[in-house]
Amino acid sequence: MLSDFHPDETFAHALDRADELAGFREQFHFPVHPATGTPQLYFCGHSLGLPPNTARQAVLEELDRWAALGVAGHFTPPRPWADYDADLRPLVAELVGAQPEEVAIANSLTVNLHLLMASFYRPTRERYKIFMEARPFPSDRYAAISQAQFHGFHPAEAVVEIRPRQGEDLLRTEDILEQLERNGEAVALVLLGAVNYATGQFFDIAPIVELAHAKGCLVCIDAAHAIGNVPLALHAWDVDCAVWCHYKYVNAGPGAVGGFFVHARHARRFDVPRFVGWWGHRVETRFQMPDAYDLAPGAAGWQISNLPIFSMAALRPSLELFHQASMLRLREKSIRLTEYLLTLLGNTGPALISPRDPAARGGQLSWRVPEPRQLAASLHAAGVVVDVREPDILRLAVAPLYNSFHDVWRFAAIWRHVTERFFATTGR
Ligand SMILES: *Cc1c(COP(=O)(O)O)cnc(C)c1O
Repeated sequence: MLSDFHPDETFAHALDRADELAGFREQFHFPVHPATGTPQLYFCGHSLGLPPNTARQAVLEELDRWAALGVAGHFTPPRPWADYDADLRPLVAELVGAQPEEVAIANSLTVNLHLLMASFYRPTRERYKIFMEARPFPSDRYAAISQAQFHGFHPAEAVVEIRPRQGEDLLRTEDILEQLERNGEAVALVLLGAVNYATGQFFDIAPIVELAHAKGCLVCIDAAHAIGNVPLALHAWDVDCAVWCHYKYVNAGPGAVGGFFVHARHARRFDVPRFVGWWGHRVETRFQMPDAYDLAPGAAGWQISNLPIFSMAALRPSLELFHQASMLRLREKSIRLTEYLLTLLGNTGPALISPRDPAARGGQLSWRVPEPRQLAASLHAAGVVVDVREPDILRLAVAPLYNSFHDVWRFAAIWRHVTERFFATTGR
C-alpha cells in the first residue's frame, strides 16, 4: 500500500477526488486561524471533534420546542423528550458493536465508570485487584484508586498497571495475558482503554476478555478513544461493561453526554447491586411513580436521571453522519490517511510511539518529542491544531469524516519544515 503514495500535491488531490467519503467534510465547521483568518488544519478530533453544521439547528429546535410546548414537550411527538434517546441508542450501538438494549446515553464518562464499577467491581478479601494498562487516562486511574479505597483496600496493593517491557512503549498482548494467567485469581476487574489515549495503541481485546473470564474476572472497557475511531464489537468480545464519551471522535460538543454498555448477559440480573434512580425504572410504569422500584432490563436499568436534551440534540447529527458514512468505510479511510501521512514523513524527525501496524492503532499518531509544547506552538503558528501530553508526547489524529488527503499533505509539508528547524535549534 505504501508504495502507492506519491509525494506530490497533485496526488493528494487525486486521492480526494477518488474518496467516496470526501463529501462529508463540507458538513463540518472548521475553526479559523486567528492571525490569517483561514480554516485551521484540524487534527484534534481525539480531544474535541468538530461540530457538524446541523448541530446548531438541532439544538435550536429543542429550545424552540421548549418555548412552544413547555412541559408538554416531554410527551409531544416527534421525539418526545421522555424517550428522546429511542432512535439514538441504535446508532450508538452500531458504533460500539452492541445491541441497542445494551447501551445507554447518560451522564459523562467518569461518572458512568463509577456507576458501573459500583456493580462490576465487587472486591472480596481474596479477589480485589483492578488490572489496568500502563499510562491510563488519569481520570480512569483516579476512579480505580478511589474505588479501591472506597472498599477499604490500599490502592498500591489493589490497582495494578501492566507495564510495557523495558525500553518499549507499547503493551504486548502476550504480556497482559501472562499477568492474568499468573495473578488472575486475585483480580476482580480488568479495566482497559480500548485505545490508549497516550500511545494510540488499539488493544486486542477478545483474547484478554476470554482469559479474564476463564480466571473469574470481570472486564470493563473504556472506549473513549475508540468510539468513532475504530470499529468496536463490545458484544462479540463479551466484555461485561464499557464506558465512553461522545465529544472526541463522535463530535457531540464540549462536555457532551456520555454513554455506557452492559452486556446482554447481565440484562436481567436485577440482583446486581447498583445505584438506582427513576430513569432505571421500567419505562411502562415509570410515571406511575410507585414506592418500590422495578428495574428496567438491559443498560437502561443503570440509568438514573432524565435525559439532557440539548446535549443529546447536539449528538444526533454526528451519529447520523456516522451511520451514513459507515464505520467500516471510515476505518478504511482512516488507515489510508495515517499510512499516507507516515509515508510522506518518512523516517526523519521525532520517533513515533504509536504502533506502526495500522491494525494495532486507530487514527491517532503520537510522537516522543523532548519539548512538545514548543513544537506544538510552532505548528499552531502555522495553522495546525494538534495537542500535547506532558512530559514528552505530541499527539494528532485524523478524523476521516472531515479530514482530507490534502490536509495530510499540507500537514506533512509544515511538519517537515517545523521539525527541521525545531530539531536544529534544540540540537536533537
Ligand atoms: C476523555 C477521557 C476521559 C474524560 O472523562 P470525562 O468524565 O468525560 O471528563 C476519561 N477517560 C478516558 C480514557 C478518556 O479518554
